[in-house]
Parts: sequence; structure tokens; C-alpha cells
Amino acid sequence: APAPPPARHLFSDPAEIEALRGNLLAWYDKCKRDLPWRTLAATEPDADRRAYAVWVSEIMLQQTQVATVIDYYNRWMQKWPTLQALAQASLEEVNELWAGLGYYSRGKRLQEAARKVVSELDGRMPRMAEDLQKLLPGVGRYTAGAIASISYGQATGVVDGNVIRVLCRLRCIGADSSSPAVIDRLWDMANALVDRSRPGDFNQALMELGATVCVPKAPLCGECPVKQHCQARRRKLFGKPAPVPDVEDCGVGGCPLCPPATEPWDSSLGVTNFPRKAAKKQPRAARTATCVLERRGCHGALEYLIVQRPSSGLLAGLWEFPSLPLAQGLQEEKQREVLADHLQAWTGRPVAAGGLRLIGEVVHIFSHIHQTYVVYSLPLDGDVILDPALSPSRWVTEEEFHASAVSTAMKKVL
Ligand code: SF4
Repeated sequence: APAPPPARHLFSDPAEIEALRGNLLAWYDKCKRDLPWRTLAATEPDADRRAYAVWVSEIMLQQTQVATVIDYYNRWMQKWPTLQALAQASLEEVNELWAGLGYYSRGKRLQEAARKVVSELDGRMPRMAEDLQKLLPGVGRYTAGAIASISYGQATGVVDGNVIRVLCRLRCIGADSSSPAVIDRLWDMANALVDRSRPGDFNQALMELGATVCVPKAPLCGECPVKQHCQARRRKLFGKPAPVPDVEDCGVGGCPLCPPATEPWDSSLGVTNFPRKAAKKQPRAARTATCVLERRGCHGALEYLIVQRPSSGLLAGLWEFPSLPLAQGLQEEKQREVLADHLQAWTGRPVAAGGLRLIGEVVHIFSHIHQTYVVYSLPLDGDVILDPALSPSRWVTEEEFHASAVSTAMKKVL
């Protein structure tokens, strides 16, 4: 087994832990933001309903800012106020409501999990974090801990991006914060710190601190309720680690939690020396030709053809303008030809490459793809028979387009 890290990286003094919990909770009671899921979790007497509300919010908040989530969350809860209601929804409805929020598999898995609770678990949510994680699709360790602590009062910690930042600073953890060794230590720490009588509030307080005070670039250390427990701040103010018994060992014998010897503390960064991450992989570049086919509908309004993507993979099940991935370095003339061939399948008639009008390019960054859409348009006359043997397709007005399950990238294209 690896040697335990030096004491400066841990919380081992019960009096300090107690003081930190008290300070953090008192600050949270006074300063927390009013958020709809918090209000619901605090006022809803039924624990399973609370759990559903927390679950929906936590899934939406993965990878998405609070300000963006609020509107989606409110509309979602209005449409499907209970797990049972969500279990009866269609995937199309879920995708429509989720449109624009990104990472679409989240909504799909939320709905699958709701169906599973209703059909296999007698409509009752698992109550312990371990069971939530084991039994519900899309529920990872963090979400399980959040639901179990906030809704069911289980004294279990949570570790998300905000908690990682706060804990790494509190304990000067400068090793790669995405490495399994560091993540394991942070979970141990979160489980040891969580307040036994108010676990849900404590976890939310730690995350709230990371979101509003201990922020990535310019943390507000002067206003921080746990500043007296913060090793990073002490180091910034006094220029050296806190005087704890075995601090001399730290860093000398290859401490698993200290910054690597090749990247020591940088005094110009202060507390933002922590956390540190291995360099992110650059997103891969991809180009896709997409064509806005338009016609005059029977009421004279312009209509656009949209087609449905496959039910797995990126943007699964969402609708888009007919699109075609392009090989790197393909010349414009060739692009037109391959796109014209592709469109022929949708329109059921020959499409002249020269008739395609190049509109411009739209760039959209997915988490791992730097996607450039090369946008063409093509007006069509007469009736176009859509082939039911192909993927589902339909004509929509602009208003219908915006109400459909289309990605933000396609809205930019339009
Ligand atoms: Fe973060 Fe500063 Fe508070 Fe330390 S004192 S936890 S760095 S805000």
C-alpha cells in the first residue's frame, strides 16, 4: 500500500474539523443563493420527490452553468413534476425540452432511469448512495452522493469540480487533481469532513463556496468562511507551509499530493497554484457539410427539411439539416459534388452541385470536437416526396424548427 500522505494534506484534528463544519454551515445559512431545486428540496415533505428534484438538477448541472440550467429545470419540473410522469414521457419530448442544454445523453439516461425505478423498483428510489450509483443509469458517484445526502440525509461526501478546487487549496494538494490517486484522497477527505447532522447542507455549502468564493481565477479569500483552515492561503501569506509535525517530509520523498518537483509553487499565482491538472487533450478538428433545404409550404411560409440522427453516438436522436462529414482538405468543388449526391437520397431527385449556394461556415465546439459546419442552402420547387425507408425526416417552419429537438449548432446554422 502507498505510504499515507503527510499530515498537512489531511484533516486529522477533530477540533479543526468541527470548527470548519460550523463556520461553513453558518456562512451557507446566511449567504446561499436561492435556487429552485434548493427551495423544493427544503420544502418538499416527501423524500422521494425531493430526491427526484435534486436528481434532475444535478444531472442538468453537470457541464452546464447554473444560470442556464434554471429555466430548463423549471420547465422540466412543470412538465414532469414526478418520476412517474417522466417515466411516461417519450424520448422525443425529452430531447425537445433538452434542446440547447448540450450533452444530450444526460436527458435520455435520466428518463431511462426513471422508467427503471417505476418498472423494476416499484416506483421507489434507492436511498443509499451506493445503491443509487449501482442501480440508476447515468448516476455516478457524485450524483449518488448528492441525492443521498441532500434528500435522504445520508452522511456521505461529494466531490465535484468545485469541491476539488476548495479541498486542494485547503490542503495544498498540487498533484494532478484528475489522477485517481488524488481523487481517491479527496473522496476520503469529503467523507471525513461531511457534517453528520446536516450532510446535505454541508455538501451544498462546500460546492457553493467553490462556486461563489473559492472561484478558479480570483478567489475572494478575505471573505472566505474557512480561511483560517486554508493551507494555500497560509502559504501565500507566510511564504511557507504551515508548521505541522511532519511537514519536512513533504515533497522530499516524492509526496503523492504535492506539486511535481518540476513545477514547484509559483508565488505569482498564490492560492491558484492549486488545483493542478494534466494538460487537456486538444479537441479534434472535424468538418461537416450541411444543407438548408427550403421550400414554400402550403400556407406560403418557408419550410426547412430536417432529418433525425441515429439513436446512438454524438447528438443521438436529435434533428438536423441533412449533413455529411467531410474528408480533410476536400476542395469546395468536390464538397459540392458529395453533398449533392447525399441530398439526392433525401429529395428523391437529382441535385445539381452548381445549384447549391455556399452561405458560410459555423464553428461549434463540442467537448472533444472542434466542429466546422460548411453551410449550403438550396431552394426547392414543387412537391418533394420524402422516402420513409430513410431515417425519419420532416418539413418544419422556423417556429417548429426552434421547438424541435435540434442542437445549438443547428440553430446557429439556421
Ligand atoms: Fe479558497 Fe481562499 Fe478560502 Fe482558501 S481562503 S478556501 S483559497 S477562498
